[in-house]
Amino acid sequence: MKYANQYFRNADLVLTLSGAAKKNGRKIKEMDLGFMSKGSIWCENGKIVWIGKDKNLPLALVKKKSVEYNLKGMTVLPGFVECHTHSVFAGHRADEFEMRQNGRSYSEIAAGGGGILSTVKAVRKAKNLDLLNQAQQRVDQFKQQGVTTLEIKSGYGLNLRSEIKMLSVIKKLNGVRITSTFLGAHALPPEYKSYERYLADLGQSYLPLIKKRKLADRVDVFIEKGFFESVAVSNFLQIAKNLGFAVTLHADQLSLSGGTELAVDFHADSADHVICVGDRQIQKLANSQTVAVLLPAADLYLKCAYPPARKMIDAGACVALATDFNPGTSPTQNLNLVGLLARLNMQMTLPEVICAYTYGAARALRMENLCGSLEVGKSADFICTKKDWSELFYSVGARDIDATYISGKLSAAL
Ligand SMILES: [Zn+2]
Repeated sequence: MKYANQYFRNADLVLTLSGAAKKNGRKIKEMDLGFMSKGSIWCENGKIVWIGKDKNLPLALVKKKSVEYNLKGMTVLPGFVECHTHSVFAGHRADEFEMRQNGRSYSEIAAGGGGILSTVKAVRKAKNLDLLNQAQQRVDQFKQQGVTTLEIKSGYGLNLRSEIKMLSVIKKLNGVRITSTFLGAHALPPEYKSYERYLADLGQSYLPLIKKRKLADRVDVFIEKGFFESVAVSNFLQIAKNLGFAVTLHADQLSLSGGTELAVDFHADSADHVICVGDRQIQKLANSQTVAVLLPAADLYLKCAYPPARKMIDAGACVALATDFNPGTSPTQNLNLVGLLARLNMQMTLPEVICAYTYGAARALRMENLCGSLEVGKSADFICTKKDWSELFYSVGARDIDATYISGKLSAAL
């Protein structure tokens, strides 16, 4: 499709996040949100060609034809990037919620055949079209909250056929920019007795096929004591890297099990959860390019500790926030809830939360050159809200977003 030039004019306030981008998402202060009053954006072919105050539009652009959009009354900010979800699944796990309420732990439920394995049963049985239709509704729900880029993991198939089925479903989803992650190493499939044997099979037969068919951009492993232990996964991660996959890890969620340090050692895009970490791991993370992806909705549901976000940010780590949306430990897609928990229970400031859901999350996906801030050369992915920016991540259940543009195209208007 041929794009016309687009001129989005005169927003009351634009948050460009350009300061956050200059600092690589580290030690974010309010001024790093890049406030611009009477801000305007010129787009060509879905990309930002110019951004500035309306009165400063360069003559060369004044002369060009464009479709104009009046953003008066709007606050504009980069589209949200949701960088950690398990949005393709069948069934639900509401019964486990009640079990946990009655005192059973996540690990105990998993050992009894519940947890991830109960979703695996449902996904293996599910028809492709049913999986796709359900997942598309979830994608739409993210989109309505201003999400413009969404990461989705596999990991509920745990055999070649069903993992490929999940990844193929992810490829068919639309409406936002989607990136897929292969999480075959999510849990031990019932057909296996040994984690090592399963990891060896994943490395030898799954990864080359997934690469060949271009079904995933990254590889993830659920690293935890009693699940995939950090010493056992090095070989597998090396195979993934050799094949050209980026790496991300579920790390140190329930116990200090080496995941965060392994993530840094493998130059992973991100280490996710990072709850049970000490000063050494925090410092190592802060000195690296690996982003700490914090998932406080899962901590709320599991009634476990929240990650030491304050310490990580003060040490200089780049931090992102995400829902971890999944049917077991985080059955919510609510971005406001995630941001609110970060503010209430992790002592993050609002500018830090906004950065963590835009630039920080884009960086966690290594997509910061494409999205996450509003700068020349990047995709025109942005949100318009009639609210003041100070009202973001404040009211759970509120509908904050009035319009979402992805590559300059109106994606959702409420
Ligand atoms: Zn997860």
